[in-house]
Amino acid sequence: MFIEQGPIRPPSEADSLLIRVTRNCPWNKCAFCKTFKGEQFSRRPIEDVLADVDTVSRVSGQVQQLSREMGRDGIITADVVHEAGARHGHLHYHVGAWLYNGSKNVFLQDANSLLLKTDDLVRIVKYICQVLPAVERITTYARADTAARKKVHELTALREAGLNRIHMGMESGSDQVLKLIQKGVTAAQLEEAGRKIKAAGISICWYVMPGLGGRQYSREHALETAARINAINPEHVRLRTLTVLKGTPLHDLMTSGVFEPLDEDEIVAEIRLLIESLQGVTTRLVSDHILNLLQELEGKLPDDRDRLLGIIDRYQTLPEAEKTNFQVGRRAGVYRFLDDMREPNRYRHVEALLRDMGGKGNLKKHLESIRRKFV
Ligand code: SF4
Repeated sequence: MFIEQGPIRPPSEADSLLIRVTRNCPWNKCAFCKTFKGEQFSRRPIEDVLADVDTVSRVSGQVQQLSREMGRDGIITADVVHEAGARHGHLHYHVGAWLYNGSKNVFLQDANSLLLKTDDLVRIVKYICQVLPAVERITTYARADTAARKKVHELTALREAGLNRIHMGMESGSDQVLKLIQKGVTAAQLEEAGRKIKAAGISICWYVMPGLGGRQYSREHALETAARINAINPEHVRLRTLTVLKGTPLHDLMTSGVFEPLDEDEIVAEIRLLIESLQGVTTRLVSDHILNLLQELEGKLPDDRDRLLGIIDRYQTLPEAEKTNFQVGRRAGVYRFLDDMREPNRYRHVEALLRDMGGKGNLKKHLESIRRKFV
């Protein structure tokens, strides 16, 4: 058995069932993005999507039957998931893992599901809830220009059908930065999309890309992004620090000197300015991407504002040698949090890595190369 699935999902949807409703990205021009390069956008036939939902239902039944055969009484344990994958392959493993995690969450792929006609998307979302009754949360990616074109009553119909959250690559709230990176979206469209999504009662998660304005627009990037967040008060803002990938237009801009990337410390300072500039919002800030230097930068505003700024202060006031050690340790996967540096064995291990890299002179090149592997 087979269902079609796309290549990406948000980090927070790691436990979700992935149902592909469109293929690839209809825009495909953002200067930093390689995800769908060379791939054509298309809408999947609705009947094919519904058939995938039926297949998931059948596979769920088979995994539960396997659990009974293994003496687990229909309960999906980790060994049932592994056995399902070993016997039947990836789909059974994926569905088994989804059942193991409670079978509550579904993510609709790929980059811009709202491009479907509202009636078609409503039909898909309702069908998922009908065939997979344990589902409580259905989320998807959408571009701001597409969401801004929807009527509030259309978005409301989607929420009533069961669509709970829209993940949106905001990247920046600055028109200059959005233009630089060819986002094809304006700050006004971001706000319009945000207002409509919230008016429909759908939760919104904006992805912000620290470093995206380069040295030239860093300040404007932070301030204008904060201004959009202040205007909309999205439920979530997720940080996903820029890494400039070879083969992207942004890499060409960087090599020609038009785009000057920020170093790790400048990015931390930019994030500080962003957080300092948030006012009157109850947004939860999340830093759950491996590309972010300070993963512990997570909390709900306004209550956690001072704590978040304190984490940044703590990093910024480290001696240079410790900052370097933390950057290398974080990128090498030795550290997650600043406190991890206090463990002598880990610290010494990172110092050895740093020596192997040839010292601080080669640091920038090594850190960039490690970061590129995570994109
Ligand atoms: S809209 Fe998203 S998927 Fe499409 S090119 Fe831009 S960043 Fe990539």
